[in-house]
Amino acid sequence: MVSTPFQHDTATHCPYCAFQCGMRLSGPRESVVVDGDEAFPVNKGALCIKGWTSAAPLAHPERLLNPLVRNAAGDLVPATWDEALARVAEAFKSIRTDYGADAVGIFGGGSLTNEKSYLLGKFARVALGTANIDYNGRFCMSSAAAAGIRALGIDRGMPFPLEDIASAEVVLLAGSNVAETMPPIMQYFEAQRANGGVLVVSDPRRTATAAAADLHLRLTPGTDAVLANGLLHLLIRDDLIDHDYIQERTEGFERVRQIAATYWPERVERITGIPEAELLQTARLLGRANTAMILTGRGAEQQAQGVTNVLSFINLALALGKVGRPNSGFGCLTGQGNGQGGREHGQKADQLPGYRLIADPAARQHVAAVWDFPEEELPGPGKSAYELLDSLGPEGGIRSLLVLGSNVVVSAPHGNNIRERLESLDFLVVSDFFLSETALLADVVLPSAQWAEEEGTITNLEGRVIRRRRAFAPPEGVLTDLELLEQLAARLGRERWFTYASPEAVFDELRAASAGGAADYSGITYEKIEAGQGVFWPCPSVDHPGTPRLFAESFPTPSGRARFHPVLHRSPAEEPDEDFPLYLTTGRVLAQYQSGTQTRRIGELEDMASEPLAEINPTTAERYGLADGDMLTLETRRGAARVRALVTENIRPDTVFAPFHWPNEQSANLLTNPALDPTSRMPEFKVCAVRIVKD
Ligand code: SF4
Repeated sequence: MVSTPFQHDTATHCPYCAFQCGMRLSGPRESVVVDGDEAFPVNKGALCIKGWTSAAPLAHPERLLNPLVRNAAGDLVPATWDEALARVAEAFKSIRTDYGADAVGIFGGGSLTNEKSYLLGKFARVALGTANIDYNGRFCMSSAAAAGIRALGIDRGMPFPLEDIASAEVVLLAGSNVAETMPPIMQYFEAQRANGGVLVVSDPRRTATAAAADLHLRLTPGTDAVLANGLLHLLIRDDLIDHDYIQERTEGFERVRQIAATYWPERVERITGIPEAELLQTARLLGRANTAMILTGRGAEQQAQGVTNVLSFINLALALGKVGRPNSGFGCLTGQGNGQGGREHGQKADQLPGYRLIADPAARQHVAAVWDFPEEELPGPGKSAYELLDSLGPEGGIRSLLVLGSNVVVSAPHGNNIRERLESLDFLVVSDFFLSETALLADVVLPSAQWAEEEGTITNLEGRVIRRRRAFAPPEGVLTDLELLEQLAARLGRERWFTYASPEAVFDELRAASAGGAADYSGITYEKIEAGQGVFWPCPSVDHPGTPRLFAESFPTPSGRARFHPVLHRSPAEEPDEDFPLYLTTGRVLAQYQSGTQTRRIGELEDMASEPLAEINPTTAERYGLADGDMLTLETRRGAARVRALVTENIRPDTVFAPFHWPNEQSANLLTNPALDPTSRMPEFKVCAVRIVKD
């Protein structure tokens, strides 16, 4: 690939969450100055503490600067790229020969650029011929994605720009703590409230977001669909639904109406714990507003009924007649940096670029033609993220794994099982820029370039495709993931399909592969992104301006109408009982990000959050004889984690909250339940049964 020159003041975007704040980088790698980019219309110059400190890993002393290979004594020792890549290629070839192509798996990441996500999907299908590729975004967005496709015909997290929030009279935010996870977004909610709007937040915890709301619905974990159905019941009862909209723009309401009738307020209060008066207040706020939005986050989505939870909130938005109307509608707030783009272009088990399905003959033919590759040689759908990880080793049949930009030992549920599965592999290769907990288990570790060292595009939570620009060349001895995939493909005899002049050339091929698909990027060019501070997909031709707002006229479903879906609430896969008497819910804190591979290495962030604090209600703490700051063990049927107590009224007495950014004995994911949603295959991170063991 051709390198781009060093730029002294580079406008780019934060490496972390899906808000993708615009930032400007200046100065040398060792002392980069980060500034919020006021010209970027999303964050308007604001950054959170993670963004301000995001340059620290670029010159961090623990950064990997050469490949590592495991020697006969079992130690990871430095090697040349030639040695490392030869070892990877040989291992992949021999495992494929002995056990078949599907015995080599790939696990990608939700922070990879569109170009990397796309090329990784192509690498799996063309260079390896394996069906088994999936990515950690499955743990983030899959429930909202599946629900969006079923109800609205498309999965774009927010079908409108963030600026619309400010003009919504009422916003219901279901299970999202954006005040901590993406703080600059709060400027939109603050503007909304300054304009006289009302913010309602549903969450088992009184989070920073809930504290900033006008009304906090403190629901029992795992009862989100009961809340949504209960609100719909009240809207129907009080005739606050939009009959004309339902008649003209939707289908399937009657069955939903019948089900909503069974969610009367006393029942909903009993199951959710939300007082009837608050349910009524919320229903009236939503039903009487001219403009209203419902937004979901991981709280509602990371459950074994995540898809139906989201469908129940979409039902509500449709019954209100708000989807596709100005300053109104339904959206979900994507979490990971490229959680949106990363789920559109082929690193999902069932997917080809442009949000095409790999089982669809027409989709296969289109993409095979773009790739100039025999369609019949493309594999079919593979296993979803947790199922893929659970199939590692001789029993499951996936004998080798390539992990790109993910630290599954910390971020996947049922961590003890994941570690065992990884240890049972014949061969593990990890590409990362630090020796993550997953990389520590690898046979080969490949050092990769960081965000400020690569060109590419990211699609933010609004569906806005933006440019990630390179400020520095990678350090000597470090490759970008695109270069890694090209070189590895060449060693696997597939060079012809993996030779690109630049990341832009990869993007141009992605555009062609996505043409005509649901996520159509064919009209988006680097120049166009540059000129307009991003382009919203779908954008089907170069003279098309992009699509900031969807659904104004119709829905991309066969009938052009949105679809109601009947939702009957099911209990979580595991509920508190005598042995494990409390709910456990997990999530993120302000100063750490995901598995913490980067943020746990940044001094300012460690000073703010150096260990997991388990939120415990004072009543519960008293019952266990715990004081604030005490160490304790949380135990579930799957494992135990050591944490410190944070005694606070912000959590319900029946619930414990634990953040998941830490590894080893502090890992909350040693506890979490891998029960999967039947459609999205999302694990149930947000609800399981736990007990407290005092020291
Ligand atoms: Fe912005 Fe998210 Fe980065 Fe914070 S972590 S600076 S909210 S992109």
